[in-house]
Amino acid sequence: MVQEQYRKGKKYYFCEKCGFGYQESNTAHECEDYCGKNNKCSRDITSNALFR
Ligand SMILES: [Zn+2]
Repeated sequence: MVQEQYRKGKKYYFCEKCGFGYQESNTAHECEDYCGKNNKCSRDITSNALFR
């Protein structure tokens, strides 16, 4: 499950598998799907990450 967390008053979405944080929930879900299926991160997706 993608986790919602607040950082500095803004909401971000975190991939539960790899822990990267994204501004868009869509991107976090994409990341989590990819991480779950491939057991690793997609660099295309994690390049959009704002937090680790
Ligand atoms: Zn991920």
